[in-house]
Amino acid sequence: MRIGVMGGTFDPIHLGHLVTAEAARHQFSLSQVLFVPSGQPPHKSDRAVTGAEHRYLMTFLAIASNPAFQISRIEIDRPGHSYTFETVRQLSAEFGATAELYFITGADVMRDILSWHRAQELLQACHFVAASRPGFTLEHYLAKEDLARFRSQGNIHLISVPAMAISSSDVRRRVGAGESIRYLVPDAVENYIYKNKLYRA
Ligand code: ATP
Ligand code: MG
Repeated sequence: MRIGVMGGTFDPIHLGHLVTAEAARHQFSLSQVLFVPSGQPPHKSDRAVTGAEHRYLMTFLAIASNPAFQISRIEIDRPGHSYTFETVRQLSAEFGATAELYFITGADVMRDILSWHRAQELLQACHFVAASRPGFTLEHYLAKEDLARFRSQGNIHLISVPAMAISSSDVRRRVGAGESIRYLVPDAVENYIYKNKLYRA
């Protein structure tokens, strides 16, 4: 059994996340992709992240129509910083020895991964799927000793996904500036943002 894990702040979730998860699901025959909204993200302490329940509910709405997509509260409910290493360890224990985890990221995240908490163990603990993302190239970083080693061991897989130059930061900026976010986020997420007055300047 192969399980995809799509971690993110999802502030808010957008079509780039969904396309990436779907491409990984198809390419690696994943039986499901588990979306894991982060609790307190250690890498984003520079700005106030929207409340976890809002991010959870937007993610829930965004994946509702895809039977292969699921959501987990594992990071939201765990006190303290959200470390992927802990999440992967917890999920591995939950799914059992027959499950193989595929952690899905964009190219920007894969670039930084060596700086993460217990990175070496993390890269050993599950498969990594690094998806193409407009504006980020990976070649230079993959040539680095450690990433190159994990890649040659078959723990890091690169995939091309339909290019979506969408980011949550840009969606937030647009809402603040009164610009449209239609077709960048699912309709239900757009409505949720307006109804709850998120990202207003
Ligand atoms: P922010 O601008 O706030 O950083 P983001 O759009 O990068 O938001 P995150 O929640 O930080 O969204 O990202 C979650 C995961 O999704 C990361 O692995 C990121 O690389 C990946 N991702 C986000 N947007 C895209 C995209 N357009 N194409 C491919 N991967 C993406
Ligand atoms: Mg990001």
